[in-house]
Amino acid sequence: MAKPILLSVDDDTDVLRAIERDLRSQYGAEYRVIGSDTPEGALDLLKQLKVRNDHVALILADQRMPHMDGIGFLQEGMRIFPDAKRALLTAYADTNAAIEAINQVSIDYFFLKPWDPPTEHLYPQLDDLLDDWQAGYRPAFEGIRVLGTRWSPKCYDLRDFLARNRVPYQWIDVEATANDPETDRLMKALGPEGASLPVVLFPDGTKLLEGLPVDVAQKVGLRTRAQTNFYDLAIVGGGPAGLAAAVYGASEGLHTVMIEREAPGGQAGMSSRIENYLGFPNGLSGGDLARRAVAQAKRFGVEILAPQGADAVRTEGSYRIIKLADGSEISCHALMIATGVQWRRLDAPGIDRLQGAGVYYGGGTTEALSCTGEIVYVVGGANSAGQAAMNFAKYADRVVILVRGESLSSTMSQYLIDQIKETLNIQLWAHASVAEAHGETHLEEISVLCSDTGKLERVPASSMFIFIGALPRTDWLGTLVERDERGFILTGPDLIRDGQRPKGWALDRDPFLLETNVPGIFAVGDVRHGSVKRVASGVGEGSVAVQFIHQYLSKV
Ligand SMILES: Cc1cc2nc3c(=O)[nH]c(=O)nc-3n(C[C@H](O)[C@H](O)[C@H](O)COP(=O)(O)OP(=O)(O)OC[C@H]3O[C@@H](n4cnc5c(N)ncnc54)[C@H](O)[C@@H]3O)c2cc1C
Repeated sequence: MAKPILLSVDDDTDVLRAIERDLRSQYGAEYRVIGSDTPEGALDLLKQLKVRNDHVALILADQRMPHMDGIGFLQEGMRIFPDAKRALLTAYADTNAAIEAINQVSIDYFFLKPWDPPTEHLYPQLDDLLDDWQAGYRPAFEGIRVLGTRWSPKCYDLRDFLARNRVPYQWIDVEATANDPETDRLMKALGPEGASLPVVLFPDGTKLLEGLPVDVAQKVGLRTRAQTNFYDLAIVGGGPAGLAAAVYGASEGLHTVMIEREAPGGQAGMSSRIENYLGFPNGLSGGDLARRAVAQAKRFGVEILAPQGADAVRTEGSYRIIKLADGSEISCHALMIATGVQWRRLDAPGIDRLQGAGVYYGGGTTEALSCTGEIVYVVGGANSAGQAAMNFAKYADRVVILVRGESLSSTMSQYLIDQIKETLNIQLWAHASVAEAHGETHLEEISVLCSDTGKLERVPASSMFIFIGALPRTDWLGTLVERDERGFILTGPDLIRDGQRPKGWALDRDPFLLETNVPGIFAVGDVRHGSVKRVASGVGEGSVAVQFIHQYLSKV
């Protein structure tokens, strides 16, 4: 934990050195002693300390300094650190000014120069002041702080990224807390830089303006570049299927890399409670499952690159070469595609413009707390929508589920329907579809078309979460890997048509169960044609595929 600071300011460097030496010898174990030989320099220092979230316990200033006297400086300093104890160093001739300062401008004490011996003329008084300061001292949060506003899509993306990668951070909504004196002091210390939101403040005192996930990832040590350029097994996609393949592959001796565009965990990472995964009778959150799986994969030596996307793939003989989003390439003998699906877009006016500013796709776990006391709209009738509704109901005043059909019975699991029925602040709005989203800078209202009455209803709304099905992310595979008409990847028996192996297939065996039309390229989980869209089946496919990879590698 960073030590609180004792700051002294004196334009006479000999005196400055002497006071620093005396402070350090008595208080160095508990406090950090720093000094400045100009009041202007000291004020800059105080602003930097404020931005770093440091605590200043004492500011000790010489009264006679050019440009700004000690009293003037202490008054400025207390605007930045109002709780710091303030003391003057004065010559005998200045004692009247010092006494007036105590009475008029809340200075705690004055010391006469010289203060020898300090055991009599300095430490006893400072002990009192510092004891007093310690009584109200609460150590500050020491991690990353993100300053932003709730309705900014950039801020939302960054918070979502940090949450999904399980990077602890403190969120400071500079609009919501604009009247909070501490936010005001922090924004003043940042000056014009405070306008470049999101501002990310790191514990080492550095900061990122308009912070992007990829820049923050590098700063917090998330690996985005591969350590070598060849692997036995490369896995694209870090959802349950990719993570399972990584754990099984690496534990069975394959040199394995996993490439994940956003955050390990995939869709499952967005789930607030998975209740049907074997071995967890009380359910577990997707975030928890992802955290455990990542730890397990790392323990077996899997290299995880995130955030990093795969943008293209090609083959050169027995090598499968992946082009990454940053332009670099890695090659492997076996490639596993586990890229899952992404949310289908809702096609209605206003939706795209307000995405990230009240309109969200997916779980929005980051947003759940911000919805406290509000009305939340959830669009869609599948399990993912039901889980999200249950999660928001813990915070929101009311949750309204909008579904096109008559009820949830044909789209949602019974256990969730039962939970929803028992949750008094969840309401179902059937025969309803979103026709338009309204709002200038953030969502304010939605228009809902009621198919049973034919009427268009416009209702106030500040948050809407959309779960209307999902499509695979396979464009990046170009024409190399065969897909069905919706983009899902064909594997194994699905590739055999009229008893014929796929075009260009040169091996004297059929494609393995989870192998694509390119030998050595496998597909698992939601991205695969005909897959069961569940965590357990993704995990099952990811682990089973490793057996086929061993068979494939034995003949490469
Ligand atoms: C909110 C919600 C709740 C759910 N609840 C349950 C539940 O309770 N029980 C259950 O069994 N199932 C549940 N599901 C379904 C389950 O989460 C999915 O079936 C499962 O996550 C599929 O796993 P996957 O690994 O195939 O793909 P995904 O989980 O979709 O992971 C794919 C990953 O690939 C990454 N990716 C995509 N393209 C690229 C690229 N080009 N380069 C690099 N990375 C890329 C993505 O960022 C993503 O992280 C839920 C889904 C959602 C959304």
